[in-house]
Amino acid sequence: MLMKTAREQIVEYGNRMAADGLTLGTAGNISVYDPGLHCMAISPSGIPYEDTRPEDIVILDLDGNRVEGDRKPSSEYLLHSAFYREDFGVQAVVHTHSMYCTILACMGEPLRAVHYAIAEAGTGEIPLVPYHTFGTPELAEAAAAALRKKSRGLILANHGMCAGGSTLKSAYGLALTMEWCARVQLGCLSAGKMNVLTDEQMAEAMEHYKTYGQVRKGGAGPMGYNG
Ligand code: 13P
Ligand code: ZN
Repeated sequence: MLMKTAREQIVEYGNRMAADGLTLGTAGNISVYDPGLHCMAISPSGIPYEDTRPEDIVILDLDGNRVEGDRKPSSEYLLHSAFYREDFGVQAVVHTHSMYCTILACMGEPLRAVHYAIAEAGTGEIPLVPYHTFGTPELAEAAAAALRKKSRGLILANHGMCAGGSTLKSAYGLALTMEWCARVQLGCLSAGKMNVLTDEQMAEAMEHYKTYGQVRKGGAGPMGYNG
């Protein structure tokens, strides 16, 4: 079985995503990339997270050709592929319809530098990807254009969000941080007052994140507040 550990992790984090209330039903999907194999392991389409087993995970190349697995892969495999093609250190992607990011997405708002923690995404603002139908090459192309800003996070207009990381743990951690920041931003918007940090302040926060926490083994990269 190819990418056995990645398959097990996708099952584990899918269950976690449901338990943490980051998604509803079968919405959202998770993938892990193996740069040696040039393949990703991705969750199957439309199977509840609690029913998903490691053998249900599908192995695809970056064009979406099936390498292993019988299930129909997530409809968003091209969206996940866009992160890996961009080749900026992302090796795992979490896509969810988490409530607060989705509200921003439906307002047509990017995730702004209201709280410095969005620096975990590697940018001073998490871009808004224009709306396209879910599961389409057009959505993946629009995401690829936004990823050229080197943000590991994306808000998908009228849809949800994506978070990438060097590991699934860090991608999932960024998804949690983005959801928390979206909630803060919405609180500020509701209260009618919002102080947005400057580019310089965000650049400094990004520098500080590079050395935040304990030194991690195996080139896992810098950590955020949620992993
Ligand atoms: P899948 O069940 O095909 O992964 O799709 C869910 C989703 O979130 C589509 O954007
Ligand atoms: Zn979706």
